[in-house]
Order: sequence, then C-alpha cells, then structure tokens
Amino acid sequence: MKMFLAGQWIDKSARIEVRNPFDNSVIDTVPRADAGDVERALAAAVEGALAMRRLSGYERAQILRKAADLLGQRTEKLGRLISSEEGKVLAEGLAEVGRSRETLELSAEEAKRLTGEVLPLDGAPGGAGKLGFTLRVPCGVVAAITPFNFPLNLVCHKVGPALAAGNAVILKPASDTPLSALALVEILLEAGLPPTAISCLTGSGGTLGDAMCSDPRVRKISFTGSRDVGEHICRVAGLKKVTMELGSNSPIIVMNDADLNKVAEATAITGYANAGQVCISTQRVIALSGVYHDLIDALKPRVEAITAGNQLEPGTKMGPMIRETDAERVESWVNEAVAGGARLVAGGQRHGTLYQPTLVADVDPRMRISCQELFGPAVAMTRADSIEEAIRIANDTPYGLAAGIFTENIGWAMQFARQVDSGNLHINWGPQWRADLMPYGGLKESGFGKEGPKYAVAEMTELKTIVVHGV
Ligand code: NAP
Repeated sequence: MKMFLAGQWIDKSARIEVRNPFDNSVIDTVPRADAGDVERALAAAVEGALAMRRLSGYERAQILRKAADLLGQRTEKLGRLISSEEGKVLAEGLAEVGRSRETLELSAEEAKRLTGEVLPLDGAPGGAGKLGFTLRVPCGVVAAITPFNFPLNLVCHKVGPALAAGNAVILKPASDTPLSALALVEILLEAGLPPTAISCLTGSGGTLGDAMCSDPRVRKISFTGSRDVGEHICRVAGLKKVTMELGSNSPIIVMNDADLNKVAEATAITGYANAGQVCISTQRVIALSGVYHDLIDALKPRVEAITAGNQLEPGTKMGPMIRETDAERVESWVNEAVAGGARLVAGGQRHGTLYQPTLVADVDPRMRISCQELFGPAVAMTRADSIEEAIRIANDTPYGLAAGIFTENIGWAMQFARQVDSGNLHINWGPQWRADLMPYGGLKESGFGKEGPKYAVAEMTELKTIVVHGV
C-alpha cells in the first residue's frame, strides 16, 4: 500500500515488509517514511487544522458516521486484514472491526457535544455585572502513535475523537501492523474528510518519533504503547498536552468465597485472548490459600483446551505472537520462573511465534513473569493468606492499568476498589474487559489521560474563558 501524506497517496522506493506472524509470509509492503516526510506532514496538518475548524460539528459528525458505516460494510475484509497482519484469530479480528465501528459512532456523537459552561462570576468579589463562559476549542494538530495489538480500534480511539473535536491528525501506526490504519484512512477520505486533515506516516517510530513529537506545531500527542517509549516521548515532547496509554501486568484477586468455575472461565478468556498481547491481559492470579489448589485444577483443562495455531483457520482459538523474539522472551521468562521454583501446570512449549497457552503456579511475585509486563499467553499464580496480602501483592508493581477481584462479599469488593491502585477495576470478572465508551486509562506508570471518545475529546480540546464586562 501507499502512505497518505499531505493530501496525497505517496510511494517510496524504501519499503517496509508487512508479514503474517504465523508463517512470516509477506502480506504487503508500505513506504518507509523519513524525517522529510514528517516535515511535509506537519506543514499539511497546519492547513488541515484550519480546514477542520471551518467544519461545523454537524459536518464532522456526518463524516465520522459515514466512515463508521463504510467500515461496517467492509467488516469481513478488514477483519481478515487485522488477523493477517496482527496474528489474532479471525473471530477476534472481526470483533475488532465491530468495536472500531462503535468507536467511530461514539466519536461522531461527541462531535455535536463540544460544550462549555456559564461561569457564576457574580459570586466573586467584583464579579457583579459581568458574564463569564467557556468555549471548548480544538488543539490544532494531534500526533497519534499506535501499537500493533489493536491495529484498527486503537487507531479509531485516537483519530475518531481528534477529528470529532476539529483537529488535524498525523498518525504513525506500528510498523508491524500499518495496513489496517491505511485502510481506515481510505475510508475517512471516502467519507468526505478534508485530505489535509490526516496524514498516515508508515515508518520506524525510532526514526520519525522525535521529529513528530518535539515539533511545536503539534499541540497534543496521544500515544499508546510500551512504558519506555512513552517515557521517551514525554522527554522530547516539551510543552505539549500528552496522553499516555502504557503497559501493565494486571492481576486478579480470588477470595475464598469465589465461584471457581467463573474464575477459571474468566481467566481463560482474559489471560489468553490475542495470545495475551492485550495491555489489560490477566497476567497474575493472586488466590487465597483456601481456593488456590482447586482453582489450579479448574483452570488447567481450560488452558489446555485453547488450541494454538494458524489464526486464519476456523477452530483455532489462539494465534501466534507478533514476533519470534517476543515468543522467545515469554519462553525464557517462564523457564526462568520454573528454574527458580515455580511449577509449570500447562503449556510451556514454543514453535516459532506460537507459544502454547501456559499456566505457571507457585510464582514468587519477584519473578519476571509476575513483576514485569509479560505481554504473552502465560498466567502466573501466586498464593496469599489474606485480602490485605493479596492487595499488597497486586499493588507491588509500577503499573496500574486494570485489575479484577472475585468475591461475593461486598466489603472485600469495595476494599479492593478503594485500595488497588489501578485505572480500571472489575468485580467478578478479569481485568481484560472494556466498553469503548467508558473512561479508560492507567494510573502510576501505566500512563495518564483517558480514552473513550467523550474523554478523549476533552483531552484533545482546550478551554478558553471569556468574560464580558459591563453587562
Ligand atoms: P511500542 O514498541 O512502544 O510501539 C508503539 C508505537 O510507538 C509504534 O508505532 C512504534 O513504532 C512507536 N515508537 C517506537 N519508538 C518510538 C519513538 N522513539 N518515538 C515515537 N514513537 C515510537 O509498543 P508495541 O510493542 O507496539 O505495543 C505493545 C505495548 O503497548 C505494550 O506495552 C502494551 O501494554 C501497550 N499497550 C497499551 C495500551 C493501553 O491502552 N494502555 C493498549 C495497547 C497496548 P514502530 O512500530 O515503528 O517501532
């Protein structure tokens, strides 16, 4: 495919191969953008921001709604594209298209709701006879940098609200999965988006990132990806608004009164979907001593029933990891834990990018499969003797994106909700659950700022305060 830059589809001789992670076959190639392309994208985006400001909220909503419809009409094709470049099973690829459509529809609705408020200035000394109100205005140029694991919906979560709010966007999708993002750009243009309002640069983040993120013409950066890249972007960004959606090692706490069938079902779904490559995947299960062994017995057959293989074949429940180096990393962290005294309950084998769904018990929280972000299909089980100990273990991490608890006791559930330092908390389900309309984002080193179109629009706009004197 070509990339879309400054109002045109552009080709280049330097290209990046996009590969199917299951068999390493080349699906397509995309141009390898360079620093000169960033400059062209920035200049065009300044014009694009003016074009977007001239559109009414109604017109922006119409564009986004039409894009959502077009996306829905192309569900089959896009679902297969997502699965081919990312490696998730077809059912997950199709589900991602459905969610992306929802994200664009929500964004279209938000385009009509850019409200301010009337300020009660006469409540201030000397405020009588004045009228105050706020206006919400677009930031201007938004830089959106996205990861590989949801190559369409996480792009929609940035581009949808940015356009709804009246901004222009420079999009930099992950180099492993740029095709879904380019397909979205085609759809937005077909839906009537002014061409200068979006550029999609395909190329290495390491090469393009600093030029994009440090430029003063960019007012807002919205980044989803790993913690270390996020920290680097914050350092180079300077005086800008920044949203950071970073990683996690999300826990589930299982109390002695939990329904173990439900816990096992939720862990199998929330720990292994997309081969565990979800920022809110269940990575740690912290179970109270009274249910610890029974839970392992309930979980083992469910984990073993997740068949791993070619993501495009019906019947496959889990596809490959994105790169062989990532599968090797997961393998080595599991092996390291087992060598250190943990017990392999299920899985543990690797064939290229395919790492079998894996369950490891008796994990010391200091082991890397527990204390660092694994981002792969393995769940680490640790025993605790009280809710206080379970919460302490859950919080003993720099991350704080999502967590779950299973209990029928409202007191324990509320203790969890109040004391676990996490942006998203689930009672009687695992952490890997998200409705696209809800405020979503992390605490601690999992980031700051919220996504979900309503909340992202707030992050991608600025408030002006107006005071009319003598009225
Ligand atoms: P990544 O390696 O951090 O890459 C994310 C994006 O950043 C890619 O587009 C990448 O481009 C770009 N990038 C790399 N270096 C850069 C630099 N110096 N400046 C600017 N951009 C740069 O992450 P990933 O492996 O794609 O995704 C996995 C990570 O994302 C995990 O940590 C996961 O938890 C996190 N994540 C978080 C959320 C959330 O909502 N909190 C959601 C999904 C994923 P290239 O591909 O060209 O390197």
